[in-house]
Amino acid sequence: VPASTNSRHTRPTLLVSRLYQPSNLRDVGQDSRSQGEMTCKSQRLMLQAGLIHPSNAGCYYYLPATVRSMEKLMRIIDEEMQGIGGQKLDMPSLCSAELWKTSERWDLMGKELLRLKDRHGVSYCLAPTHEEAVTTLVAHQTTLSYKQLPLLLYQITRKFRDEPKPKFGLLRGREFYMKDMYSFDVSEEAAYQTYEAVCHAYTRLFARLGLRCIQVQADTGNIGGKLSHEFQLPADIGEDRLLVCGNCSFSANVETMSSDSTDCPQCKTGTLVESKGIEVGHTFYLGKKYSDLFNATFSNAQNKPSVAEMGCFGLGVTRILAAAIEVMSTEEAIRWPGLLAPYQVCVLPPKKGSKIDQVAVLAEELVHTLGETLPGLRGEVVLDDRTQMTFGKRLKDANILGYPYVIVVGQRALEETPRFEVICQQTGETMFLSQDGLLDLL
Ligand code: ATP
Ligand code: MG
Ligand code: MG
Ligand code: MG
Repeated sequence: VPASTNSRHTRPTLLVSRLYQPSNLRDVGQDSRSQGEMTCKSQRLMLQAGLIHPSNAGCYYYLPATVRSMEKLMRIIDEEMQGIGGQKLDMPSLCSAELWKTSERWDLMGKELLRLKDRHGVSYCLAPTHEEAVTTLVAHQTTLSYKQLPLLLYQITRKFRDEPKPKFGLLRGREFYMKDMYSFDVSEEAAYQTYEAVCHAYTRLFARLGLRCIQVQADTGNIGGKLSHEFQLPADIGEDRLLVCGNCSFSANVETMSSDSTDCPQCKTGTLVESKGIEVGHTFYLGKKYSDLFNATFSNAQNKPSVAEMGCFGLGVTRILAAAIEVMSTEEAIRWPGLLAPYQVCVLPPKKGSKIDQVAVLAEELVHTLGETLPGLRGEVVLDDRTQMTFGKRLKDANILGYPYVIVVGQRALEETPRFEVICQQTGETMFLSQDGLLDLL
């Protein structure tokens, strides 16, 4: 833990000079050239701010600030999934070819499936999704009773897809984090209820993050099944084309439309307007496709074996993070959903050698007061101790990194009622507050 050695405090101070955030601005061009990747704003900003570092094509090091942000996102996803009864598990990434041949996806997935053989010559894939695996798991339990359904199992793990064109940084990687949930129900009706519950949880999740997200009818692709929706963040660099009716609730991915006429197929009077979106989530009602194949049954009320009705529900964890940065940031500065910012507050003491060196002590005191008074800020406040740099330079860095709050501790901190300059980066607003005012604000 980067820390100062101030022993008066139990918690070490988080110092900006010690945070591992190597800027990769130099490599941005190189990254895109050497890997033939297309770049976008979120990718450039994340490289510049030391949030990610390129590895192989479509693979990145997630640096510490990104991991902090991802862990926050995962915690919120956990709350929402567990709020509707989801139970978290973790399945192997190495999946046997046998399972994938049973579902015929070993051939259907083509080159996107990353395949390998072990030392005994047995074939595997690195899982791009886990329908086969989870259904096999549930089928294994022969004592599953209708009383235990709905059963909602989910995980947040790395997925592997040999994308033909990895691009836009974390938006389309070959290795990425996905939350995938699988549901098992007693009947089609019950499965639809579960489907609705998950869609509501997704809507709540994006609302909590402050991200505008639209739910559109979607293609079921090679996953199979009858009903499907995508959750899309409107953005110009999005790769999906969406049609939204100006008159009724109809919205769909163009892929689902048989004609591209601009007349709304639902209300018949409205006109469809096209826009672009980034797919951040996808829900599927699967029916019995996998449960039939792998024999995932439960004993029904008559104590007879019955095949479970299934659904599957994906969220692109790393994609949500990059997409949020993409839609919220300016060209020069990162802006985060408040809940996902790696650190909430950055405190700036004055430049070293200035006549107000005692202010530096006040700044460090402030960091501790914030952490101790406001439990929500524990471990969330950093001190920009690079006091060889001017306020201006450090403020510029803080602006690029997008801490929700930046507190400048300057001359006014020495006045009888000390005042701190607080910049709220989401709104760009600057306020001069007393310590109590500051605590109220935060
Ligand atoms: P896309 O159309 O963008 O290729 P998909 O439809 O193939 O995505 P799904 O199989 O529906 O993806 O997977 C569930 C979620 O996983 C997606 O909604 C998306 O958020 C995320 N995801 C899929 N592929 C990637 C990828 N290559 N990199 C990052 N996230 C991804
Ligand atoms: Mg895909
Ligand atoms: Mg898609
Ligand atoms: Mg999809």
